[in-house]
Amino acid sequence: MGLDELYPAARLTAAQRATAAAGLDALLLTPGSDLRYLTGYDAHAGERLTCLVLPAEGEATLIVPTLERPAAEAAPGVAAVRLVDHADGTDPYPLVRAALSGPVAAVGLADRMWAEQVLALRAALPEATQRLASAVLRELRLRKSPAEVAALAEAGAAIDAVHAAMGRWLRPGRTEAQVAADLAAAIRAAGHVTVDFVIVAAGPNGASPHHGTSDRPIRAGEPVVVDIGGTMPSGYRSDCTRTYVAGGPAPAEFTDYYTVLYEAQRAAVAAVRPGITAEAVDAAAREVITAAGYGDAFLHRTGHGIGLDTHEEPYVVAGNRRPLEAGMAFSVEPGIYLAGRHGARIEDIVVCTTDGGQRLNTTPTELIAL
Ligand code: ZN
Ligand code: ZN
Ligand code: ZN
Repeated sequence: MGLDELYPAARLTAAQRATAAAGLDALLLTPGSDLRYLTGYDAHAGERLTCLVLPAEGEATLIVPTLERPAAEAAPGVAAVRLVDHADGTDPYPLVRAALSGPVAAVGLADRMWAEQVLALRAALPEATQRLASAVLRELRLRKSPAEVAALAEAGAAIDAVHAAMGRWLRPGRTEAQVAADLAAAIRAAGHVTVDFVIVAAGPNGASPHHGTSDRPIRAGEPVVVDIGGTMPSGYRSDCTRTYVAGGPAPAEFTDYYTVLYEAQRAAVAAVRPGITAEAVDAAAREVITAAGYGDAFLHRTGHGIGLDTHEEPYVVAGNRRPLEAGMAFSVEPGIYLAGRHGARIEDIVVCTTDGGQRLNTTPTELIAL
């Protein structure tokens, strides 16, 4: 898959149309997923200003520190924009004003822009109301192009390869941190350029959904939740959870609720199709778990969208009545967590297609005995 396909120049034009339709005069995008989505540029986020100034009409300008100009020029979508650089010791913010012609009443700022940049842009454009760029870009980023789905599938295959080899690293007697260090190396070896997170949560730690790792040794027969993900050279991300038991049988109580979780996750994946609401997919998992008496132990939403960010829209959560559409990609990751004892989670990335949900993670979701 070519980067030109993944980051087509036409995206800038589509974003300009959407900016005008939203009643904004421009988008101002500092380093992050929005900037990368529109230009392919994986910009360094630092105190020096990098900012794409995308007016609703007219030429786009990418303001970059002089020393990062070669890096910016190498990005696939940057050929379509005017590049302006600023040397250390000069104030770059007037360049933002200069890149915009005419009055500027409202601008959309990258959602995760640093506060120091938000305030400096306010000072540079005092007449402009600041809004969130997601008001414009959310609708574009929500529906993945075939090239984006292919990039997510590539990420899924890479993280699947790590899970498939888990027996090489996860053994009783090793600490969670030791296993996690090996997994981080394996995530890179599988093709990711960065390791975004590694959760290895054994026994009681498995009851904490966002436990990281610890120096606690894994015991035989203890359930272990392993949730791992990284970023591929494409910029697209992986995120997959499997639950393991090493060196002996899991407690009977655990295998009972693992079966419930397995059915819940399957039910939610099976529910995915165009037109169903995101909250109905959440309910499909939750109903199975609640009916079995574990409703209170499923203490988070069923999933989150994924793309250039690990967590983005659409969120698979009660209250999100948005109907799913072909091209939306998100996790389906119900969990059951019994505080002080153990927990389990099963997570696949699923893309909604016209034929229903397609898993981008394909390793078995049964409890895996090592
Ligand atoms: Zn999470
Ligand atoms: Zn996730
Ligand atoms: Zn995850």
